[in-house]
Amino acid sequence: MAIDVSKAKKLCICKNCPSYFECGEKLAYCFLGKSKCIKQEVGCICPGCPVEKEINSTKEYYCTRGSNKELSGGVKK
Ligand code: SF4
Ligand code: SF4
Repeated sequence: MAIDVSKAKKLCICKNCPSYFECGEKLAYCFLGKSKCIKQEVGCICPGCPVEKEINSTKEYYCTRGSNKELSGGVKK
């Protein structure tokens, strides 16, 4: 993987997303997994994020569905 979580945090555009809810959480749900406060899926802008390209993913809603690894079947929770 060409990108790590600290770089992903800087590039993450979740704060501009309609589903995003500010509750002091660390960003880059595609790495960190589900949010504890975002519950409603009302749009996801991950497909426009530079991080998606870097991690070779086209998934959405990491904040409600889990990290890229989890969604790829890599890690079960
Ligand atoms: S793909 Fe989504 S969760 Fe991951 S860094 Fe980009 S906006 Fe954030
Ligand atoms: S993971 Fe997707 S749905 Fe969740 S806040 Fe980020 S851009 Fe929005």
